[in-house]
Amino acid sequence: MRIDLHTHSTASDGTATPAELVAAAAAAGLDVVAVTDHDTTAGWAEAAAALPGGLTLVRGAELSCRWHGVDPPISLHLLAYLFDPADATLAAELARLREGRERRAEAMVDLLRADGIDVTWDEVRGYAAGGTVGRPHLAHALIARKLVGTVSEAFASQWLGRRYRIPKPDIDVFRAVELVRAAGGVPVFAHPRASVRGRIVPDSLIVELAAAGLAGLEADHEDHTPEQREHVRALAVELGLLVTGSSDFHGTNKTVKLGAHTTAPQEYQRIVHAARGVAPVSG
Ligand code: AMP
Ligand code: FE
Ligand code: ZN
Ligand code: FE
Repeated sequence: MRIDLHTHSTASDGTATPAELVAAAAAAGLDVVAVTDHDTTAGWAEAAAALPGGLTLVRGAELSCRWHGVDPPISLHLLAYLFDPADATLAAELARLREGRERRAEAMVDLLRADGIDVTWDEVRGYAAGGTVGRPHLAHALIARKLVGTVSEAFASQWLGRRYRIPKPDIDVFRAVELVRAAGGVPVFAHPRASVRGRIVPDSLIVELAAAGLAGLEADHEDHTPEQREHVRALAVELGLLVTGSSDFHGTNKTVKLGAHTTAPQEYQRIVHAARGVAPVSG
């Protein structure tokens, strides 16, 4: 069994449509793939409708969160699996995040324009094509101007990494865990130790989140060193949390391949058994 529990489609900042994503997952030899677009369930229906035979789809999302235990607060990502997409409170929060991301991207366009960089909000919105807007869509506008060569280059500090970055809207992480559980979903902390992405939270927060309903930790991820993976794994065992691995595939916006890291079948089963929202779908 090859199980990849974290991927993105054009419903957020991936480059494969949900239908292309499930086809690519089958071609990569995966048995289970989770679609976890940022702050949206918009890709679920298309992915389920296009599911190839032999592939199982886990419907999920990756929620933009923040921990306010330090100043300034630290942003973090929470994967949410198999929650009820009709849960009104969670759906309203996701809509608020997406709306806030649009205003934020517009403000980032204004910052670029103020420096004489002639990108437009209409163009960036076009790259997002109706999905959740993120910095990778702004990156494509910079690539079109030949200001950078790749999406990764656009994340350098003189571009979207710092100079033109504006914080995005988020949910307090304790509230997010509570909302996901209330919607029947299973919350898993995405790449919790990835110091390459910025400041990381202390283990004491993970202890508190586990007590508040967090179900698991993502250990095997390209942004974790071998030592960080081991640390996350040991912490999960200590706290009775499940452990996942994933590619965090973003199509051609990143270099990582589908199935680059995977989740053990027994850990996947723990997610399925804990879920009360929707079930996995088999093609
Ligand atoms: P945002 O959510 O709008 O703040 O943008 C963050 C997203 O940009 C992440 O979800 C990644 O998909 C992507 N990203 C972050 N850093 C890089 C990088 N160095 N190269 C390519 N994509 C990146
Ligand atoms: Fe992303
Ligand atoms: Zn993430
Ligand atoms: Fe992700």
